[in-house]
Order: sequence, then structure tokens, then C-alpha cells
Amino acid sequence: MPESTMQKIVGLAKRRGFIFQSSEIYGGLKACYDYGPLGVELKRNIKDAWWRDMVHRRDDVVGLDCSIIMHPDVWRASGHLAGFSDPLVDCRNCKERFRADKAPRAVPGSAAACREGGRSDGKKLAGVVGPQGYVCPVCGSGDLSPERQFNLMFRTSLGPVDPMQQILDAVDALAALDPEARREKLAGIIGETAVYLRPETAQGMFVNFLNVLNSSRVKPPFGVAQCGKSYRNEITTSNLTFRTCEFEQMEMEFFVEPGTDDRWFEYWSKARFEWYKSLGMRAERLRLRPHEQSELAHYAKACVDVEYFFPFENQDGEGEWGELEGIANRIDYDLRKHSEHSGKDLSYFETETKKRYTPFVIEPAAGADRAALAFLCDAYAEEMIDREKNDVRTVLRFHPRLAPVKVGVFPLVKKDGLPEKARELLSQLMAEGINSFYDESGAIGRRYRRMDEAGAPWCVTIDAGTKTEDSVTVRERDSMEQSRVPAGRLADYFRDRLRLSGA
Ligand SMILES: [Zn+2]
Repeated sequence: MPESTMQKIVGLAKRRGFIFQSSEIYGGLKACYDYGPLGVELKRNIKDAWWRDMVHRRDDVVGLDCSIIMHPDVWRASGHLAGFSDPLVDCRNCKERFRADKAPRAVPGSAAACREGGRSDGKKLAGVVGPQGYVCPVCGSGDLSPERQFNLMFRTSLGPVDPMQQILDAVDALAALDPEARREKLAGIIGETAVYLRPETAQGMFVNFLNVLNSSRVKPPFGVAQCGKSYRNEITTSNLTFRTCEFEQMEMEFFVEPGTDDRWFEYWSKARFEWYKSLGMRAERLRLRPHEQSELAHYAKACVDVEYFFPFENQDGEGEWGELEGIANRIDYDLRKHSEHSGKDLSYFETETKKRYTPFVIEPAAGADRAALAFLCDAYAEEMIDREKNDVRTVLRFHPRLAPVKVGVFPLVKKDGLPEKARELLSQLMAEGINSFYDESGAIGRRYRRMDEAGAPWCVTIDAGTKTEDSVTVRERDSMEQSRVPAGRLADYFRDRLRLSGA
């Protein structure tokens, strides 16, 4: 069977050092990944581009970097401690665990056919849809476990005292209690030191609203941006880094006067969609999908997702729309909740008009790992170079701002002083902060192909002419065209080209 696009991308990601399975030498850890030498550059470039475009290039947005562990009351106020759990169900046939609210609906009592173990060659089984009214999303079986609640926040304890000892001390007393009371007592013991890894970065912006207001001379409309890790202990799928328990967010909370929120929601929806296009993502694989009324969180007035058409495999073949970013109108829900729970007034007083109001919030929330995966998939291309020789070129067409390596530097041959000259030009490029890569091994054509696979937009070859005319050959990744550039102004040349690309 030929490899699917996604299998090829996963293979390339590992072979070239973009994404590795976490703890691989110990057999790997499910749904945890590490970024390799090229992958870390790609993700950094995405975060840098986001920070530059969202914070440094605007005078109405400031940044923040908050602690991952916050006061547990933050999660009480935000509703995460009470409501951050999904009903989960296990399929008794294929062992898949899935969210009941996301499962395919079916009429209770109707036929639910599936194959044994969910395998395509498994024996055909005839079943019945249970009273829950849904079936297994993987194998279609109606033989399901009862729904169970799982808390999606990672819980740990703050302080060096392990609650285990207190639990051990209380074991005998606990045994005498009925299950409900026992659970409550245990929750009390754990709760004394329990803290949670944040499930979103957004709350850091809300609880620092007054700090930012009083320290930065900002006034609505203004935004607070943050980039950082968040954690959700949820069920994961196998599409590489698309959904992982530990992930990095790029979030911005934009505080506006009520009544102007619809306009700002439109503004940010459009701006965020255009951002992906500005970094070279193909327009035909991007869409803005407004949420149905039934999908909206109870506090959200409107929400729209920026979606990318990933080459994921599914029953219909290849291709599936997946969320890159959500833009939500969260109204004044968060500031009001934190006002109530903290007792601090989180409203804004406008001196000129003598108006007091609690700002509404427009939130563009993006995932850095998803963006990295989408840019990787979007950049991936195979080109037939020579049909007779069946010569196919694999190339990653990254936008110059995102490319992990900008320039490959090659001496044509390993003699006549060319390696020394190449190293000299390499250090000039690196001194300018232009990430470059030196390669002197193998035929020049193979070296070009290796840089194509790494997604470097340009290669420079130092040849005999470099010494006589002081010029080098610059080769373009996408067109494969070559031109001569004066060696003395090579760093300027690439700095200009990067600047033209928006860097
Ligand atoms: Zn199943």
C-alpha cells in the first residue's frame, strides 16, 4: 500500500528532526512529543512572528508571562474546577475511550452493527444502540460502559508535604464512612494542598487586569497577550501533535467598551485569518467557521474558528478540517466572575466621559503546536523533476519568516581554499542572526536536496569564481533558479530579502 501524505510527513518529521516521540528509548509516552533541532526553530519562529505581529507591531497590545500554577480560587471563579470535566465512555468492543457528547447519535434500540475488536477483518457483530442514544465513534458498537466524569485539569500538590501520609493516617476512619462521605473527606485532605496546572493561559490576563491597567497606561480598547504552556488531561488522538495533553498557546485578551464588541469581533476574526495567509498558508486550505448556537460556551456571545484542512486519514480517505485558532466574544463574563470571587472591582472608569463599565473581551486563542503542524503539512510538497529517471524532489516550502534554516552554505569542492571562504561567509550570516547551515559533504545536487527537505529558502555555493570575481551562486528553493550575488554584500542581501518577506 502506498504511504499516505500524513505518513510521509510523520516520517520526514522524524528523519529530519522536526518532531520526535517523547521518551522514545523507553517505548515512548502516548501523545507526548519533543521538537527536534529543526522543529524547535520552526515553532520558535511561529511564536516570534505571532508576538511581533500581535504585540510589537501594535501600540494597543502589551504582553504578559504568568505562572503556570495559579491560586486554586482562579479555577473556582473561572468554572474550571466545577465544570472542567467531560463524561467519558469506554467501548467494550474496540476499547476506544471517547467523549459521550461528541459521539455519533443513534436511535436507542436500533441496529448497531460493528466488527469484532473494531478490526476491518474482524467477525461481523450485530448489536443494538443502548438507551444513551449514541454509538462508538470508531467501530460503531453500541456495547458501551456507563458515562464517567474525569477532571481534565492536572492536579498536583504545592509544598513539600505529601498528602499521602495524611491519607494513610485517615485510612481507618475513612473505612467506616459511607462512600459519599469517604469521597468528601478524601477530597478535603487532597484539597488542602491541591493546585492545578493551568488548562489555558487566558485566566492570567484576567486576574492581572488591574495590574496591567495601573502599570502600563493602557485604556480600552487594548489587549494583553501571552504565549505559554497549558495542560489538559484529555483523550488524545493519533494525529501527531494535533491534540496533546501538554501544549503551547498564543492567546490575547482584547478589552473593549460594551457596544463596540461586535465590531472588534469582526476585526479580529478577519485579522487572524489573514495572519496565516500572510505566512504563506494556502488560502484554499483555510476557512473561517462560525460556531453554531449549540456549540457556543454558555458565556460566549459569538465564536469563530480558523480551520486548516489537514491531510489526516479518515474513513473517507485523506483530509479533515481541524481548528487552528478560535476567536471568541467572551463578553464581561471573566472579569465579572473574578470580581465576584476576589472581591476586587475589575471595572474600568473612563475619566473623560465619567463612564464606568466592565469591559467586554474579544479573545483570539491560537495553538502554537497546531500552527507548527499545519505549517509543516502546508509546506510539504513532492515535485516530479525528471519523469524518465523518476526523480522526485521532496521540499518544504516554508515562508522565509518561518523557515528553521534560512541559508545553506556550501563550498563547491573541499579544496582550493573554498571551505575556508565558505566558513567566513557563514560566520558573517550568523553574526547577522540569519540562521544558516554549513554542508560540504556529497555532490552539490544532493546538498541542495537536503536543504529542500529542511525547508531552507536559499542556498549559497562558493566556487572558483568567488575568488576571482568575489561573487557566489544563490539558489532559490522554490524555482531552483540560480543567480550571482557579490560575496561582500551577502549578509545585506539576505537581510533585505527577509525584511521584504515581512520579518
Ligand atoms: Zn468501538
